[in-house]
Amino acid sequence: MSKQRIAVIPGDGIGPEITEATISILEAAGFQAEWVYLEAGLGAVDKGKPPVPQETIDAIRDIGTALKGPTTTPSGGGHSSANVTLRKALDLFANVRPARVLPGVKTVFGDRNLDLIIVRENTEDLYAGIEFMPQKDTALAIKVITREGSERLCKYALVMAREQGRKRVTAVHKANIMKMADGMFLDSFYRVAKEFPEIKCDDIIVDNCCMQLVTKPEQFDVLVTENLYGDIISDLCAGLVGGLGLAPGANIGENCAVFEAVHGSAPDIAGKGVANPTALLMSSIMMLRHLGRHDIADKIANSIMRVCSDGKCLTIDLGGKASTNEYKVEVIGQLA
Ligand code: ATP
Repeated sequence: MSKQRIAVIPGDGIGPEITEATISILEAAGFQAEWVYLEAGLGAVDKGKPPVPQETIDAIRDIGTALKGPTTTPSGGGHSSANVTLRKALDLFANVRPARVLPGVKTVFGDRNLDLIIVRENTEDLYAGIEFMPQKDTALAIKVITREGSERLCKYALVMAREQGRKRVTAVHKANIMKMADGMFLDSFYRVAKEFPEIKCDDIIVDNCCMQLVTKPEQFDVLVTENLYGDIISDLCAGLVGGLGLAPGANIGENCAVFEAVHGSAPDIAGKGVANPTALLMSSIMMLRHLGRHDIADKIANSIMRVCSDGKCLTIDLGGKASTNEYKVEVIGQLA
């Protein structure tokens, strides 16, 4: 039988370090793949190529599954975001970001339980990239929300909730102010929700959602939301469960999927060998489940749980002293 092919984008900053650790652990757990390395981000731009070269897009489209390290996007100018380009080019419309407290990891609210999933729209909203200046010192950015995009996303979130036995899906919006754009998103949610009578469907305004997430996060199960709110809320939730080093993600399209951590390229710690690879590793667990390899996914997830609850080999972001490599060796050692 030929090996499963997986596209790999190591990315920028801490990307290559955490990608190496993740792939070593996947292989040690028994996942044999043909890793097809591709360029994107600063590395590509520095060679005079676009942030996502066409050959990278074509290869992921052909292979169907990619594991991606973070890529750097400069603020205020410079090259466009490789993430946004990839998500649009491959029509990766749903960004799935689970936030779960791991045993042994200290969180801002003690040992309270939190296990929710954010499903973020991934191609529309202010990320459509339509910005212009009609006159000096006035900049306009266009927010794009479509009925088709909203219904497709909400349906994905509700199907996922049904498959995972989740009980509640909450749409997050600001329809009291953006009555047309967010109003249509909300209306789309409730239209689709009619097909899922067994799931409690409700909605919340984004600012109240943030307050509730900080004070009573356990009440939420699945949050489905637009692109920008989803971006902000998922960092908030990453903070709740112990930091960006623990927040995985999946970008899902009709024909391909790209798995990547929520965090960025962390240039402040790049090259120091101290980055926490868990978020990318947990993204690779989502990839394994997507590929139906639940056996290996369970093996790695259990090992992460053991290492975290043991608490002796945690990376610096989690209050430990372990390097990326020491953590990798420990996770491999705990694979049962
Ligand atoms: P980018 O511009 O690529 O988004 P950034 O530094 O603005 O980079 P993040 O990379 O998300 O944003 O990092 C935010 C903070 O979290 C930084 O202090 C970074 O060191 C820390 N951080 C992010 N990811 C990790 C990780 N995997 N391990 C340890 N610390 C991390």
